[in-house]
Amino acid sequence: MTFERIGVVGLGIMGAGIVEVFAKAGLQVIGVAESESAVEQGKKNLATSLDRAVSREKITQVQADEISSRVTWGTDFELFAECDLVVEAAPEIIGLKQQIFSELDRVVKPEGILASNTSSLSVTAIAQSTDRPEQVVGMHFFNPAPVQKFVEVISTEKSHADIVAAVTELARSIGKSPATVGDKPGFIVNKLLLTYLNHAVRLLDEGVASRETIDSAMREIAKFPMGPLELLDLIGLDTSVEVLHTIFADTQDPLDAPASSLTTLIADGHKGRKTGAGFYDYSNKHEAPTSADDDLKIQVHETLMKAYLHTARQMNDSGYASKSDIDMGMKLGCGLPEGPFETMSHFVA
Ligand code: NAD
Repeated sequence: MTFERIGVVGLGIMGAGIVEVFAKAGLQVIGVAESESAVEQGKKNLATSLDRAVSREKITQVQADEISSRVTWGTDFELFAECDLVVEAAPEIIGLKQQIFSELDRVVKPEGILASNTSSLSVTAIAQSTDRPEQVVGMHFFNPAPVQKFVEVISTEKSHADIVAAVTELARSIGKSPATVGDKPGFIVNKLLLTYLNHAVRLLDEGVASRETIDSAMREIAKFPMGPLELLDLIGLDTSVEVLHTIFADTQDPLDAPASSLTTLIADGHKGRKTGAGFYDYSNKHEAPTSADDDLKIQVHETLMKAYLHTARQMNDSGYASKSDIDMGMKLGCGLPEGPFETMSHFVA
């Protein structure tokens, strides 16, 4: 399988980033969105990102011009007819994605592969809207796609092993570090990360420790780059709750239902940094939270770490991904110093 021509549907933050990734790797790219104005926005997203790369001397202006020249833009799906792979990055709405895949199935050459960048929807359900489910996979890039190395390649029960291997190899050939993941809610990173973050909120809700103690425990003892509550503020509480709903719908485990202060904060309009407040107030400069309660920090760290490692083990047992892919996902996707299976080798609670 060779990849020369790549299509991208949806040119928002992710789609434009994915266009850039493939064009930078020397491939021909066709970027399509639903309207002229959305296409203009996509062009602007790419230009802004390339300008930034030039000003930071990551690439030269000549290289930026070459990258732009490899991209064709439009609003017509027929432009995808000869694409070897089309990656969809439209809004996270199942009906919309199914409609797009059904249209892609009609226009893309029979051997073309179709991939979705969905963060949380079932790739199996998306593939059902085509007559080629064996050629449908997930290709989940992280934000910003040109910078983040990790890519989850999601394989459904119907995905052909050769197609999954080819897309994984393609990701590697464009400089990414891919992991192969089963089509399970949250895939690797969102499932393990959000389950852990939700647990941290429950500790807060139950009055076990203050937000500062919880955050400083995980920063200082686990050496995670951010505390869980600060990280939820950064991701956005609403986005986090969406992912938790998907996970809960699968597990029906009450511990996976969004913890109560997540929902009350959202109801009060506090969705995290983007609204100026979440677990913390961002109207002034946000400092890393600290706490002097060392004994409680040790207890919080043990409680959260035990549960986090337990979830990682369960995920590996239930076919989410291999131990090494789960480790890679948490390191590259979340910036953790080591993966959970590496931590298990020396964590003693
Ligand atoms: P976005 O809202 O920024 O962009 C969506 C794009 O799709 C826009 O260009 C819009 O014009 C276009 N679009 C809407 N309807 C369309 C249609 N019918 N046909 C073609 N294009 C259409 O969204 P985003 O943040 O780029 O997310 C896109 C996908 O990537 C989602 O599935 C999301 O879950 C996933 N994702 C997002 C992130 C993130 O951090 N934002 C990270 C990983 C994955």
